[in-house]
Amino acid sequence: MTAETNPRFDTNAVHAGQAPDETTGAVIPPVHFSTTYAQDGIGGLRAGYEYGRSGNPTRTALETQLAAIEGGAQALSFASGLAAEDALLRGLLQPGDEVLLGNDVYGGTYRLIARVLGPWGVKLRVVDLSDPAAVDAALAERAPKVVWVETPSNPLLRITDIRALSDKAHAAGSLVVVDNTFASPALQQPIALGADVVVHSTTKYLGGHSDVVGGALVFADAALAEQPKFLQFAAGAVSGPLDAWLTTRGIKTLAVRMERHSSNGQAVAEFLEGHDRVARVYYPGLASHPGHEIAAAQMSGFGGIVSLALGDAAAARRFAESTRLFTLAESLGGVESLLNYPDEMTHASVRGTELAVPDDVVRLSVGIEHIDDLVADLDQALGAL
Ligand SMILES: *Cc1c(COP(=O)(O)O)cnc(C)c1O
Repeated sequence: MTAETNPRFDTNAVHAGQAPDETTGAVIPPVHFSTTYAQDGIGGLRAGYEYGRSGNPTRTALETQLAAIEGGAQALSFASGLAAEDALLRGLLQPGDEVLLGNDVYGGTYRLIARVLGPWGVKLRVVDLSDPAAVDAALAERAPKVVWVETPSNPLLRITDIRALSDKAHAAGSLVVVDNTFASPALQQPIALGADVVVHSTTKYLGGHSDVVGGALVFADAALAEQPKFLQFAAGAVSGPLDAWLTTRGIKTLAVRMERHSSNGQAVAEFLEGHDRVARVYYPGLASHPGHEIAAAQMSGFGGIVSLALGDAAAARRFAESTRLFTLAESLGGVESLLNYPDEMTHASVRGTELAVPDDVVRLSVGIEHIDDLVADLDQALGAL
């Protein structure tokens, strides 16, 4: 058995694509900065590498690791999550094709489809994919080319049953894309549950240290990767060598980080649920969360994203500006705790649309610091309201 085919996630995360360097024995594969490769006679490539946009060994190492940890046949790495999404959608869709999109997805995904691909003829329909009756009705009305779901969703942590959705979408002749950024493959394996493609903003948990922007696609079937791979080469939104290397390094500790993110997330959610000043807590690990049972069945942990509603926008804004350890900032998934006011920050691009986020909601990205310090910080910020 090679490292690439090891059946266990934690081992793949450390070893897949990471064999010691052939020439020097370096245990950590080097970062290959070279943009071009010597040819032994015209067309005589030594290892298939020709030019940095078409292929780079550091990027290959990351793509091998990504395919292994998501249980896919092939992975592609990009300069950002949205660059990955763009290559995927332009690769799979023709003008006139439609995307059925969950109603609580990353605002940038909606913006890409509605405002960039829309003018080129891609159609968009939005539905609550966590509601089985709404999915049945939407698929019966018309089969889209692609069903695009985020679970847990951003920022309200709605949960969709990936296997049930995949079965229905496949019966209708549609492809299923799961944005697995929030859970990460350490906690949820969409391809094993029936998804055709997994999308990541590796900027978040996979990189894990808020120091590298990147994106990835992982395909259940290599044939489906062909056109997006051609676009990766022909349009060129590739990840650079150092970005790919940093992402690889982050992935090696993903399993242990996600354990701490999940235990801290659960403790923060339980603390907030018991606090008088908090109107509502959104966290799939709470028994009160509408998707709790499905999440418990399809995830091995509930992750580090917790959202809370404070009853009105003024309280939400004041709270977001009153924490000391939780830094007010966009993004999520790093080792440090962050918080964000979606209505004006991450989700400003969907204000006034059917994806708008309630204006009393604050989203926390719970980091891996000591839980007592995190709870004390939230307690003092709530006390200041
Ligand atoms: C951040 C994010 C994206 C976009 O990724 P970038 O790396 O910022 O381009 C897509 N989906 C989700 C769920 C995200 O959180």
